[in-house]
Amino acid sequence: MTTAQQTQRPTSAELDAADPLALQREAFYTPDAGQLTSYLDGNSLGRPLKATSANLPKFVEEAWGSRLIRGWDEMWMDEPTRVGDRIGEVTLGAAPGQVTVGDSTSVMLYKLIRAAVDARPGRDEIIIDRDNFPTDRFIIEGIAAERGATIKWIAANPASGVRGTDLDGLLGERTAVVVLSHVAYRSGFLADAKAITAKVHQAGALMLWDLCHSVGSVPLELDEWNVDLAVGCTYKYLNGGPGSPAFAYVNKARQEELQQPIWGWMGADNPFGMTAAYAPAQGIRRFITGTPPVLAMQPLKDMVELIASVGMEAVRTKSIKLTDYAISLAEELLVPHGVEIVTPRNPAERGSHITVDHPHFADVTARLWERGVIPDFRPPHGLRIGLSPLSTSFAEVELGITAIRDVLLELQ
Ligand SMILES: *Cc1c(COP(=O)(O)O)cnc(C)c1O
Repeated sequence: MTTAQQTQRPTSAELDAADPLALQREAFYTPDAGQLTSYLDGNSLGRPLKATSANLPKFVEEAWGSRLIRGWDEMWMDEPTRVGDRIGEVTLGAAPGQVTVGDSTSVMLYKLIRAAVDARPGRDEIIIDRDNFPTDRFIIEGIAAERGATIKWIAANPASGVRGTDLDGLLGERTAVVVLSHVAYRSGFLADAKAITAKVHQAGALMLWDLCHSVGSVPLELDEWNVDLAVGCTYKYLNGGPGSPAFAYVNKARQEELQQPIWGWMGADNPFGMTAAYAPAQGIRRFITGTPPVLAMQPLKDMVELIASVGMEAVRTKSIKLTDYAISLAEELLVPHGVEIVTPRNPAERGSHITVDHPHFADVTARLWERGVIPDFRPPHGLRIGLSPLSTSFAEVELGITAIRDVLLELQ
């Protein structure tokens, strides 16, 4: 790299100084110096907000401790759909009455995919890509075994992701449902959700988007894109904390024709009627099963409000600047040492993390963690650099990628 090229790129200090969201970083809890120098894994577990440190004890004392069982009547029965509506409004482009919070992502995937297969009698095929996250593939394998369905596997380019044309030859009159990740967990590829959903609908099938890596980092317009079903995590870019519950989106137009397979009293028509037989509730509540994890839903509310205060467009703008910067640093510092960048160069085709490949990255990641530089590793060789837009600084990106280079050189 020539001096001229180097001077063209602003420094991390200049980028931080020019960042309109820089002040938002103050909202996050910061551990004592020495424990953390560069956090590059907000796409796996978001950092807690200071507001959460204050709000959780308040919930224990005021809501739980003081209202006790009365809390269910007063507020908690509707907590899954109240929190769901707010996630929908702020991050999903979803009108009220279509989102509920509860269960893990894996269980929500099971409930919605089973419901979709059952809603398309005569269609016995499920489409998913081979490079999707293991739980998505495993859940579908289980459903296929249970229902006698066949899985049609998309073999997309793992360095990018699934494009509409990858469905050609697979999608047809036997397809019940197509399940894809909006942002690929490994490459960071951002799929064209609107176009793919339209294509799936032309074949008469249902479309389910896994939003684990896009909710809170990429603006979504589920209603406008006419998405049928979606599921997402809240512990990644929604900073809900370890094991915080998933959300499910079910388009209003689909709710009455879908019946989920785990019949529980909380998703029944009259939970306190203690009725003899199950009848599903009307609307989105039918996708609830048992007592919702109200306590575990509290922290994500703080992050959703922080996102609401700046807007998803500003979040996306910073996300693109962060990934652009990370890619240019990786090109300068890592590529000369045999590293391959496997995330799309076009910002319109990527989410908020970049992945770099090198045969030594398992060892490199372990050594980085010891120094408080925290990316994550995804086999076989992928080191993921997750850039949570509201909590990550450009200085952290520079420090982290420089440390990756240094450790790589130590091991060579
Ligand atoms: C993180 C993630 C999950 C996690 O599922 P859990 O049930 O919460 O463990 C599932 N799918 C994708 C695509 C993910 O990125």
